Amino acid sequence: MHFVEELKYEHPPLALIENLEYTEVEPGDYTGFEIIESAAGARMETLVSPDVGICADCRRELLDPTDRRYRYPFINCTNCGPRFTIIKSVPYDRVSTSMADFPMCPDCGREFRDIRDRRYHAQPDCCPVCGPRCFYLDAGGRAIPGDAIELAREDLKAGKIVCVKGLGGMHLACLPLPETVEELRRRKRRDEKPFAVMCRDTDCARAICRVTDGEAAALESFRKPIVLLEKLEPNSLAQLSGNGSVGVMLPYTPLHVLLLGGDIDCLVMTSANISETPIISDNAEALRALRGIADGFLLHNRDIQTKCDDSLIRIYAGRDYPLRRSRGYVPYPVTVPVRRMLLACGAEQKASFCLSKPGHAFPSQHMGDLKNAETLDNWEKQIDHFAGLFDIVPEAIACDKHPDYLSTAYAEERAEAEGIPLLRIQHHHAHMAACMADNSLSGECLGLVWDGTGFGEDGTIWGGEVLAGGYEGFRRVGSMRPIPLAGGDAAIGDIWRVGLSLMLGSGCDTARFERESGYDTVLRMLETGVNSPLSSGMGRLFDGVCAILGIRGRTSYEGQGAVLLEAAADAREAGEYPFELYDAGGVLTLDWRAVVRALCADSAAAGIRAARFMNTLVSAAARQLAGLADATGLRRVVLSGGVFQNMYIMKRLPERLRREGLEVFAHSRVSCNDEGISLGQLMILEANI
Ligand code: ZN
Ligand code: ZN
Ligand code: FE
Repeated sequence: MHFVEELKYEHPPLALIENLEYTEVEPGDYTGFEIIESAAGARMETLVSPDVGICADCRRELLDPTDRRYRYPFINCTNCGPRFTIIKSVPYDRVSTSMADFPMCPDCGREFRDIRDRRYHAQPDCCPVCGPRCFYLDAGGRAIPGDAIELAREDLKAGKIVCVKGLGGMHLACLPLPETVEELRRRKRRDEKPFAVMCRDTDCARAICRVTDGEAAALESFRKPIVLLEKLEPNSLAQLSGNGSVGVMLPYTPLHVLLLGGDIDCLVMTSANISETPIISDNAEALRALRGIADGFLLHNRDIQTKCDDSLIRIYAGRDYPLRRSRGYVPYPVTVPVRRMLLACGAEQKASFCLSKPGHAFPSQHMGDLKNAETLDNWEKQIDHFAGLFDIVPEAIACDKHPDYLSTAYAEERAEAEGIPLLRIQHHHAHMAACMADNSLSGECLGLVWDGTGFGEDGTIWGGEVLAGGYEGFRRVGSMRPIPLAGGDAAIGDIWRVGLSLMLGSGCDTARFERESGYDTVLRMLETGVNSPLSSGMGRLFDGVCAILGIRGRTSYEGQGAVLLEAAADAREAGEYPFELYDAGGVLTLDWRAVVRALCADSAAAGIRAARFMNTLVSAAARQLAGLADATGLRRVVLSGGVFQNMYIMKRLPERLRREGLEVFAHSRVSCNDEGISLGQLMILEANI
């Protein structure tokens, strides 16, 4: 029994015990203890480890002048180092990784074979004698002689922008000074999206942010994600983000540890890519694509086999709340009750896919927008790569119902070519199922799905839905009054069009938008209904309100309206506006007209009105769900969809729903945004074939 307890609690840091079974047997005729080789030909169920942030032992050796790996930027051991991003195929041996080019020296070989050594069987084990090395190149790609890391540090301290090769791709790094960051934004043409920073340690993070114990644990965990933290001073660090929080991560490779030592304690670190293309991972590509963007290149000669961005999480209710599940998490599986080998193709803008075999679902890393040709190409390659790694041959395929998604086109073609079943799944049903699977729920429940855009069953755009059902199917029992979107997709960037639509629909004076270019045309479209598809997307309601409040008339990325409202909202404000629910053919529908009228008549500051608007949504959802729970007898509610990235809502809504006697479930293993829906599609496919 003692052994079993030890196995449970004192296993090596990265060991993952999924299941522990034991039987008691009579003592046998054994004389010693040995670990015997697995029988040849035995079918191995191997998992592939994610990349693991540098461990405390390696960090100590890295900084120890007497250690043979002193200041060696590729130090690693059995407990840490690259895994997923260097593996080409399984079984996981050095020859099938990008370490194949670096034969071990005798010293490393000895450690590798010694069972008492921390580097026993560490496939990427290496040292300055045998392993990869760093080099530093100037803006023109010319090698500069000297200590590569010191050269990079000198340039960074001089306010330059340096490309740094990491585990799953390149970063652009610079000091977090306003003028330097502004220059980075100018060169990267990333006007408004927030930048994350890498802090030397948790104490450095505490100098700019509030860090709870749970957040510190997440920062310091082997996964080393970017954790969204609350700024000490909400209006500080405006160069990094326009709201009250900032993404922080700690150094996760030895190279990062060396880069941030001494007098650099914080660097902006943003994925090196050009407008929506995948993260750059190849040296030659970096030199070509980042010409004119990076002033220097800190590169090395170990290839990145698989692109993998930094993960992005929040800590919510004491657990991970993933926003981007990638490095450090992928390709660990999510344990779910599936019995088949399946492929789910996800959505499009925040693409992912999910493969399964009995007992396990393997959600992919963050992929970006498939409308970009290189992203689509990478996504397709990764599907094959995962299938190879985990020995999965899909028996059926799931995709979104949206006919124009590129993931749908891929699924159709592949199902046709392989003669296997294809299931088209409604977008918000998939969101709901993702959150159910995330919480290991089965049976039926209510799904509150607040989202931007998703193809509805009736050909309109959905996204403010309450669904009742489970993996097998669903009924749409709640929704939001549809908003006419003048010009269709044009209204996603020109959010003033949505504001105008809301005001017109509520009988408010629309004069405040008169100065927008195209006002007359848009007004005519809305009055006649021409080229004005209907959307019940909650994200659109946020956009429209953002425009009405005069915060912004145009946004530069989808969902920004909700981000801006959250940033503007005065959290102390408790007031709210009147709202109505009406029955639309058996669908309990939230009417925004009274809300918009009250919002327009309210003369309070924008921050107060933003808070009142969101408070109203919380109350409206509580009444809507309480009514639907009574009507359906379902008292469990899962929350999914991109709008639930909004923490103002997440801090208030679950609490309110619980007061209505409902049991509330949020995400903790996959994202609430479209990246998470491949897992939901997979569960629905499993239940329906
Ligand atoms: Zn280590
Ligand atoms: Zn060596
Ligand atoms: Fe969605």
